[in-house]
Amino acid sequence: MSSLWHPYSQMQTQPPAPEVIGGEGPYFTLANEEHLLDATCSWWCMIHGYRHPRLVKAIQSQADELCHVMLGGLTHDPASRLADELVRVTPAGLNHVFFSDSGSVGMEVAMKMAVQYQVQRGRPDKYRMLSLMRAYHGDTTGCMAVCDPEEGMHSLFAGFLPQHHFAPAPTAPFNASASEASSDIQALREVLEAHHHEIAALLMEPLLQAAGGLNMTSPYYVQAARELCDEFNVLLVFDEVATGFGRTGQWFAADHANVTPDIMVLSKGLTGGYLGHAATLATSHVYDAFLSADDEHAFMHGPTFMGNPLACRVALESLAIFEEEDYLGKIATLNGILRQELLDDTGNWSAHPNIEDIRVLGATAVIEVDDPAVLQGVKEYARQQGVWIRPFGRWLYTMPAYITTPDELRRITDVMKGWFGA
Ligand SMILES: *Cc1c(COP(=O)(O)O)cnc(C)c1O
Repeated sequence: MSSLWHPYSQMQTQPPAPEVIGGEGPYFTLANEEHLLDATCSWWCMIHGYRHPRLVKAIQSQADELCHVMLGGLTHDPASRLADELVRVTPAGLNHVFFSDSGSVGMEVAMKMAVQYQVQRGRPDKYRMLSLMRAYHGDTTGCMAVCDPEEGMHSLFAGFLPQHHFAPAPTAPFNASASEASSDIQALREVLEAHHHEIAALLMEPLLQAAGGLNMTSPYYVQAARELCDEFNVLLVFDEVATGFGRTGQWFAADHANVTPDIMVLSKGLTGGYLGHAATLATSHVYDAFLSADDEHAFMHGPTFMGNPLACRVALESLAIFEEEDYLGKIATLNGILRQELLDDTGNWSAHPNIEDIRVLGATAVIEVDDPAVLQGVKEYARQQGVWIRPFGRWLYTMPAYITTPDELRRITDVMKGWFGA
């Protein structure tokens, strides 16, 4: 019996977790020498796969120079260079970077920033958030309060959480026409019309609501969100913790819509998954609200490990690999295979009575079923074929590492289709 407490796991009934002893490329290795092809790149962060030589070397060489120093009143080269690089690759106008240590904290930072911005612009009544149904923004208290309050996993905490506003989850698919997206946009407008006087910011995972069920939506919706936020004096916050760094086929989901949010949060793929870190970016419009002769107008946040040199250094190396090795090209190839295997080759398997929908966007694919029980046993079935896949709820999905080869990706899609009898 181990003293280790696992996440989201019923410790009384779950079988002992397999022990991972190493990894290479898109595979990790278990103590019993099984090599498993990781279909989900460890909660979507190991975008370069395991034991990438350049990333390992970046950490080693940084460790030899400086492992950590506080960012309060001090600076260092990896943090300032990474801030510049993030400004360069993100949508135009996001010119300021605040670091923290995880996606949830990056979102907490975004929400505090939005509220303090409104206060310092003379609108102290705008202190609530507007979020979307099916949203997932993290597990800390502030983040739980802006996750889907019904289907999310935090309903038990309802009494503990501050109250925010929610708009319906968008339903128009990625390739919807402008008119097909209009009822989603109208629903968002109605919530803003009713409550804008108390809303500091609209939060969204643009184009892909990830942990809430891989719900994909249209760039028109994202563009309309930008226009509505301007109309109602509400900040637009993009949580690109999951969608950032290529997952939807562009550098950022915002790029599909050509939209610059006021605040954007990055984590997961930021360090290639090699260390926990996050960045909250803001436009000068937001940043300027914190400039004053009064010290109390400074942004009141400062995690101990923000700007950690090891994390910043490996993030810089991750960005360099992403560009030098044409990751957007690799992602386009993966997208082509996912489409071919799951959308074009519909065979008999896709007529399975429990399949509700099949969606592909960038290097993400999901088969949605009508009942979670349909996916009971799929993890074991995949493991017998050397694939690590971990569905949740009604969603069997893959978000592979971008270095996954076409043949390896077909092994993953064969498992997904095979479960339905292909
Ligand atoms: C994973 C995730 C988070 C939370 O990030 P952590 O690093 O787990 O705290 C927040 N938002 C989105 C969209 C995520 O996918």
